[in-house]
Amino acid sequence: MGRKFFVGGNWKCNGTTEVVKKIVSTLNAGELPSTDIVEVVVSPPFVFLTSVKSELRPEIQVAAQNCWVKKGGAFTGEVSAEMLVNLDVPWVILGHSERRALLHETNEFVGDKVAYALSQGLKVIACVGETLEQREAGTTMEVVAAQTKAIADKISSWDNVVLAYEPVWAIGTGKVASPAQAQEVHAGLRKWFEENISADVAATTRIIYGGSVSGSNCKELGGQPDVDGFLVGGASLKPEFIDIIKAAEVKCA
Ligand code: PEP
Repeated sequence: MGRKFFVGGNWKCNGTTEVVKKIVSTLNAGELPSTDIVEVVVSPPFVFLTSVKSELRPEIQVAAQNCWVKKGGAFTGEVSAEMLVNLDVPWVILGHSERRALLHETNEFVGDKVAYALSQGLKVIACVGETLEQREAGTTMEVVAAQTKAIADKISSWDNVVLAYEPVWAIGTGKVASPAQAQEVHAGLRKWFEENISADVAATTRIIYGGSVSGSNCKELGGQPDVDGFLVGGASLKPEFIDIIKAAEVKCA
């Protein structure tokens, strides 16, 4: 069986009760492809997770945007993987570039977080991606391979991981990677899996693209052979998120 298309919506630190209600009602009213074709996960801020989970149509799952690196306890301000499991939140986003850059999360720390979240039964959207400087220096593959290796070193199975390739220069900038640029890195990551993990992990792990995905560029990006879906920031707060979910249909054509 092929890799099921995956579309994640990262709401980041946005929303009020009213705004969140509006987004949920738009999603609930939207005409979506069947769950055989696409897996959809939205990631509201922690404070809205439970209400969104209970109000959203059941085909759309929820993800937290982060969780603590080990068992909960005296870690003021953190939310543990155990708490997410207790609330039946199935997914968590880890290693997002905003956290790597602003909160100084290292490759090793992200690897530890992914391993702990998986050990507690969460599924993980793990993010990797190069900065503009790194791309211009020609080190893109090296950077994303090192970020992926730091995760691989800590986990024994990729079954519950979706890898999100998110070039930092494309996040929130409106400067989307070209389909060829995205495909090149996705194919490189798949090759890295094949050479360093196994042919099976290379063939089955979903590698999704993130960075200024919109209703107008999603079909061409989604049509690339190694692009298995998207992680969407800004556009996931808008009705066009429905069109982005529908881009899954390009794989069925
Ligand atoms: C993101 O935050 O993961 C992201 C891809 O953002 P945007 O779609 O706004 O570029």
